[in-house]
Amino acid sequence: MIDCLIVGAGIAGGTVARKLAEAGKRVLMLERRGHPGGNAYDALDEHGIRVQQYGPHIFHTSDENVYTWVTRFCEPEPYQPTTAAVIDGISTPAPFNFRTIDQFYAPEAAALLKRALKERYPGRESVPVTELLESDDGGIRGFAEFLFEKDYRLYTAKQWNLKPEEVDPSVLKRVPVLLGYGGRYTDRWQFIPKGGFTAFYERMTDHPNIEIRLNTDALEHLATDEAAGEILFDGEAAPVVWTGAVDELFGYRFGVLPYRSLRFDFQSLAQESYQEAAVTAYPQAKGYTRITEYTKIPPQDGHGWTSIAIEYPIPFDPASGNERYYPVLTEESKALNEKYQEHARRFRNLTLCGRLAEFRYIEMDQAIGEILEGRYDTEI
Ligand SMILES: Cc1cc2nc3c(=O)[nH]c(=O)nc-3n(C[C@H](O)[C@H](O)[C@H](O)COP(=O)(O)OP(=O)(O)OC[C@H]3O[C@@H](n4cnc5c(N)ncnc54)[C@H](O)[C@@H]3O)c2cc1C
Repeated sequence: MIDCLIVGAGIAGGTVARKLAEAGKRVLMLERRGHPGGNAYDALDEHGIRVQQYGPHIFHTSDENVYTWVTRFCEPEPYQPTTAAVIDGISTPAPFNFRTIDQFYAPEAAALLKRALKERYPGRESVPVTELLESDDGGIRGFAEFLFEKDYRLYTAKQWNLKPEEVDPSVLKRVPVLLGYGGRYTDRWQFIPKGGFTAFYERMTDHPNIEIRLNTDALEHLATDEAAGEILFDGEAAPVVWTGAVDELFGYRFGVLPYRSLRFDFQSLAQESYQEAAVTAYPQAKGYTRITEYTKIPPQDGHGWTSIAIEYPIPFDPASGNERYYPVLTEESKALNEKYQEHARRFRNLTLCGRLAEFRYIEMDQAIGEILEGRYDTEI
């Protein structure tokens, strides 16, 4: 007998499982993949370098509850990620900052531009690039246009499969340019679990009340009883927490929710270092958007080897079996999602939880924080 079925052994499913297990409930988790951890999963490659299989993940949070929770299951290794973009062959910090100005402007022009930015935006640490594009100061506007043309426009076009001329600056509303020499992540805590995310995950779900079955597609065990408003697991109604894709749960009956997917080209290179920063965007490169060098997340000794993953954005197609990465949020897709959420509310033993079930982009700390705060408690 179980008290709750959880579909998906990602960060959301694991956090719910532990919370329920500590409240005395017996939990069964079904995971389609051959490993736990969801998209935060990592493993050692043939050179002993810890590589993240689904893109670079770093824990960052300012929420003390989340930090306390996560560090119950791991020792945090403080880590400040280095991120860069290569423009015209020059590696510059991303988000762009005053070092970018120093790299692309002659010293006198750079000093003038930095002064103008400080004067126009007193006391601010960052300004969205869209705001800079609208500046009535020609120098500031010129800088923003340079960044937009050489980086944002090209990167965004590749990421979302648009033509460069279709990229509207308004999509960059929240992309900041930093008014100083500091970096991006300003959360109180930034770290990688010592020993990796998978080890953290296994500790979190290591509880006598939790059983995880890998290589198990929950859809082969679930049925919907529309008349009774219940989800059945192997013929029985039990509380179900679903962290998979909501459209898939309901057989795509209203249509497919759109995502962008990624293809990673993993390479082991016989060299100490491949690029300056751990995560580097290549807006002007053909086909790929960025390269992650895992020997730098966190710094690891590859004994003469380094490990990189080149990231190619590709369309998501449920028939091809590729993964959902970024939800494509448009008015149309949000309305389609609302139909699914509405439909899900008809099933009284079903709780939708996590990025795929709710069709939204969330960071790990948000996923955990919302569960700890009880966002789903009344439903389970
Ligand atoms: C490229 C990339 C980089 C990111 N970097 C960061 C970062 O640096 N920091 C950060 O905080 N967040 C980051 N995130 C976000 C982070 O990945 C999510 O917050 C987190 O994965 C959410 O966990 P989840 O459990 O909701 O989803 P997932 O991790 O996707 O887990 C869902 C699980 O459900 C399983 N599943 C689905 N359907 C079924 C089924 N029918 N039967 C059985 N199992 C099923 C899946 O196999 C999967 O394991 C990043 C995301 C992406 C895409």
